[in-house]
Amino acid sequence: MWQKFFPDYYYESVFEIPYKELKQKDIKALIFDIDNTLVPYHVRRPPTKTATLLARLQKMGFKVCLLSNNGRNRMETFNEHLKLPAFHFGLKPLPGKAKQILKQINVEPQHAAIIGDQVFADVWCGKRLKLTTILIKPIDKKDAVTVRVKRVFEKFVFKSYLKKKMADEAGVPASGKINSGPESQNTDGTIAPGNA
Ligand SMILES: [Mg+2]
Repeated sequence: MWQKFFPDYYYESVFEIPYKELKQKDIKALIFDIDNTLVPYHVRRPPTKTATLLARLQKMGFKVCLLSNNGRNRMETFNEHLKLPAFHFGLKPLPGKAKQILKQINVEPQHAAIIGDQVFADVWCGKRLKLTTILIKPIDKKDAVTVRVKRVFEKFVFKSYLKKKMADEAGVPASGKINSGPESQNTDGTIAPGNA
């Protein structure tokens, strides 16, 4: 029953994502969540490492965008120097704002990936639009109050996903799409065979 929430990929952080592979898969746009995906909630501006990554992705030819459920101030401060196409009050998992972004940057859904830390916001939003969905481990254990309840249900999704993944790997050659879930002991960010 949770299958429709399974992400296409899971990584420990945005720094672990094999962007070259996404490029080879004809992904042209990357839509990033901010809170707990690029930075913890309390970090108002992108650290150098994060800003460098985003700049590198643009150099690689990706259209890089920001889509946050947080408000205008949060977005404007974070994006002040990045100057990326950005939408605040994203209302994820509703697909409306993500759709607007795709229209603005002129990219078809099959060529876009959404990257975020929440199954019931980022992944679900991406699934609705048929984007490639990339879930990352939340940076910080501290969540906004509105997110805490959703985290409880996310655990069910991961348990279900990992069960399916194990069954798949036992019966068929490993798809290896997701290297581990947050419940996994694997914290080194290694990528399953075939995805490195
Ligand atoms: Mg988030």
